[in-house]
Amino acid sequence: MYISGLQKLTLLDYPEHLAAILFLDGCNFRCPFCHNSELVLGTSPEVEDNFYSEDEVLGFLKKRAGMLDGVCISGGEPTLHRDLPALITRIKELGYEVKLDTNGTNPDMLRRLLDDHLLDYIAMDIKAGRRNYAAAAGISKDALSKKTESDPAHSFLSFEEDQSGPGCSFLSRIQRSIDIIRNSGIDYEFRTTVVKGIHTEEDFEDISQWLAGRTLEFSNSAADLQKKDMRASVFAPSRTAETDDSIAALPDDRTQLSASSGKLRYYLQSFRDCDTILLPNHHFSAFTEEEMLRFLSIIKKTIPNASLRGMEP
Ligand code: SF4
Repeated sequence: MYISGLQKLTLLDYPEHLAAILFLDGCNFRCPFCHNSELVLGTSPEVEDNFYSEDEVLGFLKKRAGMLDGVCISGGEPTLHRDLPALITRIKELGYEVKLDTNGTNPDMLRRLLDDHLLDYIAMDIKAGRRNYAAAAGISKDALSKKTESDPAHSFLSFEEDQSGPGCSFLSRIQRSIDIIRNSGIDYEFRTTVVKGIHTEEDFEDISQWLAGRTLEFSNSAADLQKKDMRASVFAPSRTAETDDSIAALPDDRTQLSASSGKLRYYLQSFRDCDTILLPNHHFSAFTEEEMLRFLSIIKKTIPNASLRGMEP
């Protein structure tokens, strides 16, 4: 495997760790606000010319052992690389703790990494509320919710086959990843990058209910939802006439989650503009601090320890 980028030190990306970040290219999403367009498209000449070999990166980590104690595996979407377990095995042999950044679309890889005790921390993106997920991830509603033999969004992955498996929708995989992570027993976080032009209050009302294990009921206000017995709620979709196709296609094999929202770590992080945003000539911007605090207050109704990240002056 080659590594497309190496950040030699971060104090911010791996909680309570001095860490390096490895960036792996390719992604099965096309979030229009993505900062890493070269990595996502996987075709940039700069990326191809500047990659690191696995041995080079491991040599660097060997020299820094004792000074650094963590390695973040980021991307792109790292779980699309079938050699990821082998890479992390070599990193852990050097004594490092490993954090994985993921969009949650490859629960089988997550399961394998956890079963092999290769992860110490997982950070998973929750792109948006379920109705808005396709737009936030830059894929079609069909790709999000329908069972397909091959996902059109994966066709660019000429260097690796997608490991997520056929016949399983993105939303189903994301749900499975949430379940796996919450039951993993390791430290984890869910997080949403909040973008003016993509998100509205409805996203945060749904995310808060979703992560707390609530049925999707958009006809109810957040206040109404809060009054209901959360422990009785499972991920059974409301199969009503109002339910749109993407939500109706939620998987049938979802596991029940208890409403352990007190333990759930969830962060809202503000969009930052830069030169490498995936969508050219975008109209995205950051919400004001006041708006972010309003979204946070919605989330906190069901996830009390949710917090803002990256809003420091
Ligand atoms: S922000 Fe979206 S497109 Fe960019 S790497 Fe993450 S999942 Fe892929």
